[in-house]
Amino acid sequence: EVAHGVFRQACGLPAFPSLAAAPAQPGRDEQTILAARRRYLNPTLSVSYRRPLHMVRGQGQYLYDAEGRAYLDCVNNVCHVGHSHPAVVAALAHQAALLNTNTRYLHEHIITLAERLTAHMPGDLSVWFFVNSGSEANDLALRLVRAYTGRQDMLVLAGAYHGNLSSLIDISPYKFDGPGGAGAPPWVHTLSMPCTYRGRFRHAEDPVAAYVEEAAGIIRQVEEAGRGVAAFIAEALMGTGGQVVFPPGYLAQMYALVRAAGGLCIADEVQIGFGRVGTHFWGFETHGVVPDIVTMGKPMGNGHPLAAVVTTPEIAASFVTGMEYFNTFGGNPVSCAVGLAVLDVIEEQNLQEHARRVGEHLKARLKTLQERHPLIGDVRGSGLFLGVELVRDRETLAPAAGEAQAIVEAMRERGILLSTDGPFHNVLKIKPPLVFNQEDADRLVEELEGVLQEVEQPA
Ligand code: PLP
Repeated sequence: EVAHGVFRQACGLPAFPSLAAAPAQPGRDEQTILAARRRYLNPTLSVSYRRPLHMVRGQGQYLYDAEGRAYLDCVNNVCHVGHSHPAVVAALAHQAALLNTNTRYLHEHIITLAERLTAHMPGDLSVWFFVNSGSEANDLALRLVRAYTGRQDMLVLAGAYHGNLSSLIDISPYKFDGPGGAGAPPWVHTLSMPCTYRGRFRHAEDPVAAYVEEAAGIIRQVEEAGRGVAAFIAEALMGTGGQVVFPPGYLAQMYALVRAAGGLCIADEVQIGFGRVGTHFWGFETHGVVPDIVTMGKPMGNGHPLAAVVTTPEIAASFVTGMEYFNTFGGNPVSCAVGLAVLDVIEEQNLQEHARRVGEHLKARLKTLQERHPLIGDVRGSGLFLGVELVRDRETLAPAAGEAQAIVEAMRERGILLSTDGPFHNVLKIKPPLVFNQEDADRLVEELEGVLQEVEQPA
């Protein structure tokens, strides 16, 4: 808050009175904005709540609505270093005032950002392509895979989401199996979601072996048809799937299987990268694997559009012959200055370790809540990427989707933003900015307990 004050003063902006009492913002009232939104904006835009929120300001782990009400933001996987972090805002403003241009010219920041990010990467992952969104990154990963392997067949996980471009809807079961979805294209093969809580083979003697054998069977079918598997794409902890945790050893055995069949392994780190999982900088590191291609986005620019693909020199070289890759904005000076400022804050404030400590505390408290509330079937995840799965029956795992939505609405009334995920929308997802602290975690748990009591015993 002090840094914010200094920054606002330097910019000649009036100071905010305090974190708890942001001024109401005069302007159009909520009903006018809602009507305009219905008239002019994408009609499928998700609003999360029955009564959409009209936010006007963000600071740290808080968002403020037009009436000046503060909300503890527990579902923001974009702003790792907190909303409108002064160092990030200053880097953006400074670079915008100095130079911004397309990627036709070299500039210092793009080189420095690639060097700094490479230092966080294992193995030979050192050739960077900067883009503007997670979707662009995954689309480019698909092109790299095809150029390198000459193959098209993809292995994907049920419930996965990898982006909004047509090419990615094709490999996102969350979309192609969802309402209005067209099903999988013939070259896309869906594997069972290896969820420790709900997965198809969770009761098998060796669940990992069962999931891997399922994949091996699909690979054999592809080969019998005279083709080969191009790649396996997966998040190491699944977001839209419902904050899904894999059984230990799953990813390592899948990587070995796919590589033995001549395919590549893509780690989608768009949601889970940059220290969110606490124990490691990247989600895939929690499984001890080294991917061939890693894609990232969301927190990379703390809300500013910045994303990337990194791969090995050998795979990147497959683009050199006749497949030039260029995009106008990717890696522009302002984006890279923002990316560097975000990395500075994550590293200087050791936000990864902070996420581990606060996440451990929060998970332990949520597990205590689970002992008292039968609605909570499972508490899972790592660092500040946690899921609370709600069920009506712990034996049948019947999803409590209505209750989950009621909890999200009631928490909003208490000034806490949550959301749901998973195929049944019954998993409360908790992924706050990484500056979220232990007091925030305690408040979240206490308010959640109050709301659970209301939902379990309706008046
Ligand atoms: N990959 C994952 C795992 C995601 O969760 C998302 C977005 O939600 C994407 C890719 C697509 O990123 P973007 O929305 O920036 O295009």
